[in-house]
Amino acid sequence: MKIISINAGSSSLKFSLFEMNDESVIASGIFERIGNEIGSYTIKYSGQKITQEMAFPTHTDAVNVLLEKLLALEIIRSYDDIKGVGHRIVHGGSKYSESVFITDQVMKDIEEFKVFAPLHNPAHLLGIAAFKAVLPDVPMVAIFDTAFHQTMSEEAYLYPVPYSWYRDYGVRKYGAHGTSHRYITSCVKDLLKKEDFKLISCHLGNGGSITAIKNMKCVDTSMGFTPLAGIMMGTRSGDIDPSIIPYVMEKEGKNAGEIIDDLNTHSGLLGLSEYSNDMRDIVKQCEEGNKKAILAKNKFVRRVVDYISQYYTLLEGCDVIVLTAGVGENNSYIRKEILDKLTCLGVKIDDSQNNICGDFVKLSTEDSKIDVYVIPTDEELMIARDTLNLIKNR
Ligand code: ADP
Repeated sequence: MKIISINAGSSSLKFSLFEMNDESVIASGIFERIGNEIGSYTIKYSGQKITQEMAFPTHTDAVNVLLEKLLALEIIRSYDDIKGVGHRIVHGGSKYSESVFITDQVMKDIEEFKVFAPLHNPAHLLGIAAFKAVLPDVPMVAIFDTAFHQTMSEEAYLYPVPYSWYRDYGVRKYGAHGTSHRYITSCVKDLLKKEDFKLISCHLGNGGSITAIKNMKCVDTSMGFTPLAGIMMGTRSGDIDPSIIPYVMEKEGKNAGEIIDDLNTHSGLLGLSEYSNDMRDIVKQCEEGNKKAILAKNKFVRRVVDYISQYYTLLEGCDVIVLTAGVGENNSYIRKEILDKLTCLGVKIDDSQNNICGDFVKLSTEDSKIDVYVIPTDEELMIARDTLNLIKNR
């Protein structure tokens, strides 16, 4: 059975087409610059890659081209081959704790929650509308990035601010990367063949978040009301003292939105190093003795270790730590820096294992008190699995 997993942005649409019998990706790709005079698409399939420039005035045009190409390339025999479409949705507010079939009400809710994700939720609705127009009879499912974090207690998700901010305006921790953390949790369940474990899942990409998981459920997570909170990231600051905002507003004559933009796009690794948001560049500069790069790297490692230690005590111990996403999967230098700082928790690493990159690998030694794994994340597969599960159980 074929399921397509979709991540629609305001001018782009990423897709992965899965054969769910063996969960293999039979085609994937991206449509870019939708709505511009000239756009382009890239489709990868059976070890090949095609790229073409053409205009897609709307998302519906892009979806039409996508399906025509899948037919022409004989990746599908007819549109009927596609049995379900799963859409990644960044924000499901406090309402959605799991994936659901997309109904008119679900679309209204995605629209309503755009106040929390103004760039993403409206774009997801464009993607949904496009598939509804082209494949009106195919079941569609919404997979929310926030859903996994809905199991947090009030104590975890509330901020110590006037309660009325939560009651009247929905100010609380929602978290993000939930689909990635849920995928990692399901992998650990398969590894340990049980559900009662304490896991700290570290999604370290350009954006990053750390989640504490007990018995398969999220107990706490580092991102907050928005993805600006938590650890230091490529261009985002993570947690800071909010009093900095009005202070710098006055110094630089900027408004609050402009300062938030600085915190989102000019901070983190890029902000401190004044060089790059990319950890590969930072590590290279560290090796060349660039002091600001070393500072940025050290601060990044410190913030990750801060959160892991915090969650270790919150969970009252930890069975498994998983590192995932761009840095977690590929950067053995940063992995070692982080894990060496966890020696006091009984973490012991096999350095030769740590040299393996881009793949599943167990980093910890047999006598380590905590098992440490690198597990490549796969949000697209999680989206396809949820879509299939809902269709099967209908
Ligand atoms: P995003 O949050 O945009 O999905 P990614 O998960 O792709 O980001 O992570 C991007 C980060 O991962 C960058 O800092 C980059 O340096 C790092 N990274 C990606 N690939 C590699 C690699 N092969 N070796 C080292 N670092 C890598």
